[in-house]
Amino acid sequence: MEKIKMQTPLVEMDGDEMTRILWQMIKEELLLPYIELNTEYYDLGLKHRNETDDQVTIDAAEATKKYGVAVKCATITPNKARMDEYDLKKMYKSPNGTIRAILDGTVFRAPIVVKGIEPCVRNWKKPITLARHAYGDIYKNTEFYIDKPGKVELVFTGEDGEEKRALVQEFKAPGVAMGMHNMEASIESFARSCFNYALDTKQDVWFGAKDTISKTYDGKFKEVFSHIFEEEFKEKFEAAGLTYFFSLIDDIVARVMKADGGFIWACKNYDGDVMSDMVSSAFGSLAMMTSVLVSPYGYYEYEAAHGTVQKHYYRYLEGQETSTNSVATIFAWTGALRKRGELDGNQELVSFADTLEKATLGTIESGKMTKDLALITTLENPVVLNSREFILAIKETLDTLM
Ligand code: NAP
Ligand code: MG
Repeated sequence: MEKIKMQTPLVEMDGDEMTRILWQMIKEELLLPYIELNTEYYDLGLKHRNETDDQVTIDAAEATKKYGVAVKCATITPNKARMDEYDLKKMYKSPNGTIRAILDGTVFRAPIVVKGIEPCVRNWKKPITLARHAYGDIYKNTEFYIDKPGKVELVFTGEDGEEKRALVQEFKAPGVAMGMHNMEASIESFARSCFNYALDTKQDVWFGAKDTISKTYDGKFKEVFSHIFEEEFKEKFEAAGLTYFFSLIDDIVARVMKADGGFIWACKNYDGDVMSDMVSSAFGSLAMMTSVLVSPYGYYEYEAAHGTVQKHYYRYLEGQETSTNSVATIFAWTGALRKRGELDGNQELVSFADTLEKATLGTIESGKMTKDLALITTLENPVVLNSREFILAIKETLDTLM
């Protein structure tokens, strides 16, 4: 069989620990035999980030702007223990944070649905995609404890000297207070990302906020979404047979529980944080979740939602058997290859991505899976495979489908 060619390079960001091991296996067994893989390689492994003073992360994000599509392996976000372990020059920021700041995006996460791994919510038949706004609110707040009577005020001082002042609370006794903000431009780019992603994946958009209580703050979110939808997306949605609908966040939560899935749930930062954990665990496992950063300027970065699976890596280093689930990392590759294929009009590449996903799901549905899935599957007598065996089993299925 002739290998599939790629016109434009994919930005490849390698990573750390167990996912770095899986990365290599996936390339060797599932990609290189079928594709003349054309990637621009950036090593975001912590050792190389340290050698380059983290410049490699910035270069990788800039390359994503140049080519449009990237695939990223999970990476270590350094903490105190990692400083010692890797003898780091400094405590570098989260690579995902650095990349998001450069690409200005929204993160979309969707469960990978497979027969035999059933959602706890019986009526969820199709995946629910969570779109989390990743800027501001309580994640960039200022807060303090008040230990005596007094008043807390919100004060705005304009550069032109204008002052706005509002009473938050007259404290007669100890309490707590907090200030937070968001940016109109960030909310606008969040809205555009959601609507573009909806058109891309042919799904409706649901958005919930608490504008009845927070008339100005949450009201601004509602207003921006509505304005951008009306001005820029309404006709495209109508043509695609899609809808956008806004409701109170509590009403949305109730509807989500009763729905059968297959839509995008746009969430403010905190709602997205909490609800994505609820949705993913209800669907089965962290390793059965796709994750893509979509920038409003049309750049895409695909990754696995989970981390580097450190515990498994240490076992691997000791020569012990590991049964690490590579599905999310495989789907990061297929997502990126499909998008690259679509942008380049490369149908062969798109079909290959579809087939590899089919082979991956088919392998699990035939009862061959890693330990994390074997523990929760409804299939009888699942065969538990180690990390490499699972990838080889997918290759076997893939070869029958090709
Ligand atoms: P983790 O890598 O997500 O793993 C936590 C636990 O979840 C594992 O010990 C394992 O449970 C289970 N798990 C996660 N992925 C799995 C998979 N593919 N197959 C099977 N089991 C899986 O989180 P962590 O160990 O807390 O973090 C390790 C490193 O990842 C940290 O340095 C963190 O900074 C980094 N991180 C990176 C990203 C990213 O790059 N996107 C995201 C999160 C964390 P059992 O041990 O019970 O098998
Ligand atoms: Mg969370």
